[in-house]
Order: sequence, then structure tokens, then C-alpha cells
Amino acid sequence: MTQPGPVLSVVVPMFNEESVLPLLVERLRGVLDGLAEPYEVVAVDDGSTDGTANALARARATWPQLRVLRLRRNSGHQAALVAGVLRARGDYVVSLDADLQDPPETIADMLDAARLGQLDIVYGVRADRRTDTFFKRWTAGLYYRLMRRLVGKQVPAQAGDFRLLSRAAVEALRELPERTPVLRLVVPWLGFPSGEVTYLRDSRAAGRTKYPMSRMVGLAADSVTSFSAAPLRFATWLGLAGVAICGLLVVVAVVAYFFGATVSGWPSLYVAVLFLGAVQLLCLGLLGEYVARIYTAVQGRPAYFVATDTADGEPPAPAPT
Ligand code: UDP
Ligand code: MG
Repeated sequence: MTQPGPVLSVVVPMFNEESVLPLLVERLRGVLDGLAEPYEVVAVDDGSTDGTANALARARATWPQLRVLRLRRNSGHQAALVAGVLRARGDYVVSLDADLQDPPETIADMLDAARLGQLDIVYGVRADRRTDTFFKRWTAGLYYRLMRRLVGKQVPAQAGDFRLLSRAAVEALRELPERTPVLRLVVPWLGFPSGEVTYLRDSRAAGRTKYPMSRMVGLAADSVTSFSAAPLRFATWLGLAGVAICGLLVVVAVVAYFFGATVSGWPSLYVAVLFLGAVQLLCLGLLGEYVARIYTAVQGRPAYFVATDTADGEPPAPAPT
């Protein structure tokens, strides 16, 4: 199956998305077939344990542009995204979620924006968050405000991982030594000319979210530590403040001793010991976050393993029914 190289690659990471897959295939194919561009869809099967792999194999039987990249184990959304983007062959690479929260119709707008404005990056920006819970809206608002302070104003607020990258931007990403960059921060940081396209984010078409609270916290921690040593600086300031307060208390104690007011006060001791203990643990924890990341970086293990890629001439898996 040798076709001319695709102009457009659409990367879709998916983990246990059996239930949305038929909807996704139908809608995405409808949009892409109408574009008059040679394209490929890179479905990244992030170690799914349900029927996703079979469903993909079945879809491939009638959709030659569908390419399946299977990761050997579940590696997480960001890693799956990186795997797909780095292997995509198109001049333009668009990434979108499998659950149809990012409307495939917007891909056409992104392509137009990139071509007209000669842009290397086009962000999909959510026009509003009506479909999100109050909690998600609030935490997201906090996240983007913090990130714009840490990384810079070029980080678009309310832009997730629905975006278009030019070939040049993909190659720049490949040059980065990081194993799993937080794409929504690293991409703006690359400094390419960029634009935005707004879209309405739908609610999940089927299935359940794969982003529980713990993963949200993980993403936030990775985001902060990958762009800022501010928490470490904060620990230093806490330490300095502690030293100053202790110095003051020593003076107080000495003065009290000479005036004969040696106190019965264990409450103050108790509070001071507890407080210092807590501050030390906090600072140790902050330090630990960075040490852990240094450790992972030094180990240098790959963030994902590609088990199979149908573009490597692998025969399509037989489709059991
Ligand atoms: N995803 C993935 N690997 C994971 C978790 C999620 O590839 O370990 C995919 C998931 O299938 C979906 C996308 O990442 O296509 C976004 O996940 P989800 O929609 O569950 O996140 P939410 O929209 O709830 O934040
Ligand atoms: Mg989703």
C-alpha cells in the first residue's frame, strides 16, 4: 500500500475507548474524506485492555488511511500523544481526543489558519467550558493562570491538547531531550508563529473519563516542575524566615532568663517544635519532587514502547468478530 505521503496526520491517543470508537471513526472519516488532502489517521492504542484493538483492526479493513500504533503498555495520555506525533508523517499534524470532545470539523479551520497565516502552531481554544463541572472549570482556571506566570504569556489559556503542528514544529519537538514533555507548555515555549481557532468543546460522546483526580494532580506537578524552580526557592525563603524567627526567640529567651522569668511554658515549645517539623517536611517534599524527576531523567527509560505500527508493513491483524 504505497501512497504519496500524507499532507495531514491526525493523531488520536486512546485508552479503552471501545465504546466511542465507532462514533469516532464515522465522524472523523466523514470530515477527512471531505478535505481533499491525502491524510492518515494515527490511532495510538495506549495499551488498551478492552476491545479497542479489535475494533481498530476491523475499522482498518475498510479505511486504508487508518494507521494503528500499538503501545506495549499503558503509558498515559501525554506519552501516547508524543508517540503518535513523532511518528506521524504529514506536513501538518493535528492531535485530538478520541472521545469526540474536540470536534473533528475544527481540523479544517486549523489547516486554513495555518496556511493563510503561515503558522506553525494552531491551538484549539475552548470558547467556553459549559460542559465541564464547576470543579474542573475552577481547577483549570487556576492551572492556566499559574502556567502563564511560570512559562509566559504565550501559553494560551483554555487550550488543551487539540492543536495543529507543522512539520517544523514536530521536528523541533523531536530535538528535545525530555522524555515526556508537557506538550501544552513546551509547544508554546518553542517560539513558533502561532494562532488560535476557537471551538465548542462537547461532552464525552461515550465511555468514561480516563483522567481521574490523581492524574490531574500529576499533570499539574509535572507542569510546575518542568518550568520552574520556584517551589525550591519558596523552601529557601521558608527556611530563612524560620531562622529569623528562631533568632528572635533566642533573644527573648535570654532576656527572660536574666529577668528571672524562666517560664513554665511548654505550649510555646510544643507549637514551635510542631511548626518547624511541618515546615521541614514540606521543604523535604518539595525537594523530593525535583529529585524524583532528576532520577527519572537520569534513568533515561523510554516513556513508551511501540509494539506494532501498521505503517511498518505489518499485515493487518485478522479481525475476529
Ligand atoms: N488517554 C490515553 N491514555 C491514558 C489516558 C487517556 O491515551 O492513559 C486518552 C483517552 O483515551 C482520550 C484522551 O486521552 O482520548 C483524553 O482522555 P479523557 O477524555 O479521558 O480526559 P478528559 O477529557 O476527561 O480530561
Ligand atoms: Mg475527554
